[in-house]
Amino acid sequence: MADGGFGRLIGRKRHLLGIAGLDPRAVASVLDLAETYISLARKGGARDVLRGRTVLNLFFETSTRTRTSFELAGKRLGADVINMSPSGSAMAKGESLLDTATTLNAMAIDVLVVRHDQAGTAALLAQKVEACVINAGDGAHEHPTQALLDALTIRRHRGTLAGLTVAICGDVLHSRVARSNVRLLTMMGSRVRLCGPPTLLPAGAAEWGVEVFTDLRAALREADVVMMLRLQRERMSRAFVPSSREYFRFYGLDPEKLALAKPDALVMHPGPMNRGVEIDSSVADDLAHSVIEEQVEMGVAVRMAVLDLLVRDARRNA
Ligand code: ASP
Repeated sequence: MADGGFGRLIGRKRHLLGIAGLDPRAVASVLDLAETYISLARKGGARDVLRGRTVLNLFFETSTRTRTSFELAGKRLGADVINMSPSGSAMAKGESLLDTATTLNAMAIDVLVVRHDQAGTAALLAQKVEACVINAGDGAHEHPTQALLDALTIRRHRGTLAGLTVAICGDVLHSRVARSNVRLLTMMGSRVRLCGPPTLLPAGAAEWGVEVFTDLRAALREADVVMMLRLQRERMSRAFVPSSREYFRFYGLDPEKLALAKPDALVMHPGPMNRGVEIDSSVADDLAHSVIEEQVEMGVAVRMAVLDLLVRDARRNA
């Protein structure tokens, strides 16, 4: 953010393609703005911020939380929001991604929110469309707004991200949430632990500036935050775990394992949860620790802030 803008500049527009490319000031600025949007995220009331702007949600992969919260965020700020999924678009008739980009340019979209199973799709589109592009998840690569909403949730409870021990546990290999969170949290001064069975830990994880564990109990010891990840079977080309039951025994978060973390540890999950696989219902629903619902709530406020910052910058440079 040295040049005063938020996100990566490509052509004349800024884009949020990943946490990579943001610096601590940019992260703090979006979290601070999101704080101011929390009550508006609940009831609306800032409809002139994006009045006359069009946000297009282009989701090639399924989504419940992310798509809905981008839609709500856009509407809360007064934008026109359009949802498009490939099964209902020309993509299903074989139109290439770049032809779709040309079509979107002709429609003068202001913000394109894109989710795709291929890493790099958002970055590719950012080169081709005139809209600001927001990466809503590209394969196992990045999911920046998830990491930002996680950071906001943690900061609200702990007042800071610096000096906290955060254990990110489960299917790290296939998780864009883990990658974006590792980037953001290490940049903001947290100590990050990654934990999973050896088959679900990426080969180079030890070089990410984190501690790597295969024993969940060791990873949880004295942790301030425990972030559980879903087993992403849709990205698995083979069997990575023997059975869900065995996985739960060793890597599922239950009350007994959670007791190893700090007494006031926060429990997080990006959703959707596989109850009884990576997390026990009694932990997921225990409001003394679980902030999983609050994460969803913070998702709307963070996405309002991201939309606002990108459109504000585009307006300034128009
Ligand atoms: N919703 C998150 C994502 O899209 C996490 C998950 O699917 O497990 O990456």
